[in-house]
Amino acid sequence: MTPVSPERSPIAKIRTFLPELTAFRQDLHAHPELGYEEVRTAATVVKALKLLDIATHEGIGKTGVVGVIEGRRTDSGRTLGLRADMDALPMREENEFAHRSRTPGRMHACGHDGHTTMLLGAARYLSETRNFNGTVHLIFQPGEEGFAGAKAMIDDGLFERFDCDTVYAMHNWPSLPLGKVGLNAGAMMAASDRFEIVVTGRGGHGAHAYLTVDPVLVAAHIITATQSIVSRNVGPLESAVVSICAMSAGDLAAMSVIPGQARLVGTVRTFKPELQNMVEQRLNDIVQSIASAFGASATLTYRRVYPATVNTPGEAQLAGDVASALLGEDNVIRDLEPSMGSEDFSFMLKARPGAYLRLGQGGAENGCFLHNTRYDFNDHVIPVGSGLFAGIAERSLPL
Ligand SMILES: [Zn+2]
Ligand SMILES: [Zn+2]
Repeated sequence: MTPVSPERSPIAKIRTFLPELTAFRQDLHAHPELGYEEVRTAATVVKALKLLDIATHEGIGKTGVVGVIEGRRTDSGRTLGLRADMDALPMREENEFAHRSRTPGRMHACGHDGHTTMLLGAARYLSETRNFNGTVHLIFQPGEEGFAGAKAMIDDGLFERFDCDTVYAMHNWPSLPLGKVGLNAGAMMAASDRFEIVVTGRGGHGAHAYLTVDPVLVAAHIITATQSIVSRNVGPLESAVVSICAMSAGDLAAMSVIPGQARLVGTVRTFKPELQNMVEQRLNDIVQSIASAFGASATLTYRRVYPATVNTPGEAQLAGDVASALLGEDNVIRDLEPSMGSEDFSFMLKARPGAYLRLGQGGAENGCFLHNTRYDFNDHVIPVGSGLFAGIAERSLPL
């Protein structure tokens, strides 16, 4: 890719307003809000967009906000969506710097304060330069952390009201060095499903176990058998995870009481729908047949939370080319290994072509990965992310 000269790079221009963007990011960090409670955050975003004379629309998917910027020309009829998430996590922050969370039990530990700020930085650049032909929709979404805020916005008519030919989003990544970008032309993150198994037996005296149907023993067999799904039903070159992460049965103070029920909760991660279907079916078969073999009964409740986040090849190419032009090809990983984590931007990528990028922010070497109580978004990433968003707009909607 031909590199963009430093003086023409959106990153250089956005750096000139980094002090204001940093103050904005740190203010968001100090005032974290959970999914669908982002009232102050949304109001702060709307205020900032209005100061830039950007048309704003509020209350989409409860607390979502959309800003609309038209290019110097719009006769191409082309449209683009750039998305940032706004929500924080229910955690207690352990940082002690001045911009630490002011709200007990709430923390911006995933850097969505930074994502929101990066999109605002792009908004300022794009509204001042308008070097594009078409319309850019800035999508500030609520509730990424388990609330499917992206789906809420889509269900609320996001793409009918604000058409987007393509959509892009990025997530900061502490284990990637600052200034590097990673993506690939397919699956970036896995589908995330939640399952719950309830085993019902017959409780009784631990000394007279032959008179009971022990659900703890049944649950133990189910836990062991589920580990055969990935090792014996999934092809060795495919990817899937089945994890049982929580179990509950009986009372730790009652050493001689066999309980009547045992409950297990876990997650399944897959990239391909056919594998996802197979794992759900196998889980159900294992749960039903093991319970019945022991004379117990069991139910499996299986909920598909987020689909897989899958980039479309053309848009991954475009985003990679923009990153290469702005940061140099050496700083672009175009065949990034997918992660078994999940992301609700997947709902937008199911509706529109687009790409999801990982943005290096460094810092993981200090043990501060995402969702750590001492995590903080690296403000030096702001111009890089803003510049990438802006570059994607200029390349997607050329004059
Ligand atoms: Zn997160
Ligand atoms: Zn996140």
